[in-house]
Amino acid sequence: MTAVEPKSSPPRGASDTAPLLELRNVYAAYGPFRAVFDVSLSIAPGSVVALLGSNGAGKTTIARIASGLLKPTRGQVFVDGVDVTGIRTFRLTRLGVTHAPEGRSVFASLTVEENLTLVFRQEAGRKGVQASLDRAFELFPRLGERRNQNAGSLSGGEQRMLSLARVMVHPPRLLIADELSLGLAPIVVDEVYRTLEKIRDSGTSLLIVEQHVHHALALADQVVVLTKGQVSFDGPADDLGDLAARLMPGVASDGQLVEPAAGVGILTPEPNGSADHPPT
Ligand code: ATP
Repeated sequence: MTAVEPKSSPPRGASDTAPLLELRNVYAAYGPFRAVFDVSLSIAPGSVVALLGSNGAGKTTIARIASGLLKPTRGQVFVDGVDVTGIRTFRLTRLGVTHAPEGRSVFASLTVEENLTLVFRQEAGRKGVQASLDRAFELFPRLGERRNQNAGSLSGGEQRMLSLARVMVHPPRLLIADELSLGLAPIVVDEVYRTLEKIRDSGTSLLIVEQHVHHALALADQVVVLTKGQVSFDGPADDLGDLAARLMPGVASDGQLVEPAAGVGILTPEPNGSADHPPT
């Protein structure tokens, strides 16, 4: 397997010892509803953090703040120790922080190879396209078998693989992977996780939001659990142990999330219309 160096361009003034990404006391709201309160987490270079919690706990909201898709109403976001709160997503991407594409963002009328070529030509130049294609088909052999097939005729799981291949061939410094395995067959989920493992091994940090808790825990160094928009556990994956079921109502003994317990994931209405107050 060819080693792939993550794309890297730390911001000016970056510190060598700072976490790659840090959220410090962030709050977020959707209109009058507060979704997350006073959440802090940090991701060291090269490490994997699993963000867990039951439905509606605020995981996607935190993932969106981390990737610049959502500006926190309070608190700060740092990359390499530099305050990047509120900067645009494309600028965060340039610093090496990328949100994995959700769903099946592919061009249906183009073939698998044409879809990949479009992206790789931009990222690696015309001369780098072939090596990038080889790497994509090495990571996802099934895509290689279907390279001349229109993307629109691929199965849902294959389309997700195609979306992923576009990110994983030239991995960022930090990949924010939000529910990558949603709706995929178990065999495809295994393949996605093998790929995440490979890009972790090549130096990419990961923030994983995942329904398949056991998959996320197998890869994670650090676990952050959200309960009703607040951090209820932050520690090494090895320390979570039996806490998983207690901390995350709705997690079955096999690690899968099931229906949330009553009251979990309910948004707290703002008592005074402001989004910047801790929960009552
Ligand atoms: P799930 O596991 O079900 O995807 P989650 O932990 O990712 O949930 P979020 O998607 O972050 O949770 O949502 C946190 C809360 O904010 C939820 O109660 C959700 O209903 C609410 N919410 C999310 N997006 C919006 C929005 N665009 N407008 C209003 N409320 C929203």
